[in-house]
Amino acid sequence: MDSVAQHSASRYSKVSVITSIVLIWFHAMAAYALFFQFSWTNLAVSAFLYWVAVGLGISMGYHRLHTHRGFKTPKWFEYFLAVCGSLTLEGGPIFWVATHRVHHQHSDQELDPHSPRVNGFWAHIGWIIFGEASHNDTGRMARYAPDLAKDPFYRWLSTYHWVPLTVLGFALLAVGGWPLVNWAIFLRVVVGLHATWLINSATHMWGSRRFATKDDSRNIWWVALLTFGEGWHNNHHAHPTSARHGLTWFEFDMTWISLKLLRAIGLVWDVRVAKANLKPAESVAA
Ligand SMILES: [Zn+2]
Ligand SMILES: [Zn+2]
Repeated sequence: MDSVAQHSASRYSKVSVITSIVLIWFHAMAAYALFFQFSWTNLAVSAFLYWVAVGLGISMGYHRLHTHRGFKTPKWFEYFLAVCGSLTLEGGPIFWVATHRVHHQHSDQELDPHSPRVNGFWAHIGWIIFGEASHNDTGRMARYAPDLAKDPFYRWLSTYHWVPLTVLGFALLAVGGWPLVNWAIFLRVVVGLHATWLINSATHMWGSRRFATKDDSRNIWWVALLTFGEGWHNNHHAHPTSARHGLTWFEFDMTWISLKLLRAIGLVWDVRVAKANLKPAESVAA
């Protein structure tokens, strides 16, 4: 038995009650919206907000910018991307970034917050619901994101990460009523959560490996489609600071295309880019 699996029995000893209630509530509302409140307007608004929250907020913001610093951009745009990230209900930037840096430092080892070596359920959602996993240790988390912890705005957003989503929810209620809220908040958030969690579960279990990294990371095209390019996860573990994850023309990476456009208009610069034939950890500025 490897060191990760040894402790799996005690991982389920405690349930995070508030998180569980919120997740059950969101899944119930999402199911109701999907089966009873469909309209093309609801779908279009939800798809747009899915791109804003998961594409801009998580992929471009929390992940490639705030965690790995793969490119540079003005402070106001950093803050904008962080607010977009909070719309996923995946927590504030300090929690998200610290958890993800711990994941890279201990990938698929004992201290990885969400390795499928425990089991696929744990990697997908179990680590969120159960136990006093290290992600609940705020003091330890802040040590992994000192760059963000010294910024008052990021500290505020990490404490009140649910505020932008709530404000957006009331705005949608005013213009479109409950059916629009149920689609563009509840259903859209649930789809975004599972898409992101697939990075932790699926792309550490299934798919192909271009690079012989020490972890179990893999590339999966359909996860990349759902997550704006994050599914090229083996490429990413081999070259963590690269702002480009899809490394060939057939590895579709929507966030990389977006970054190229933003670089062309001068909004981002010093973009770090890995190439498919580089050894792991060799990223070059482009
Ligand atoms: Zn990973
Ligand atoms: Zn990463």
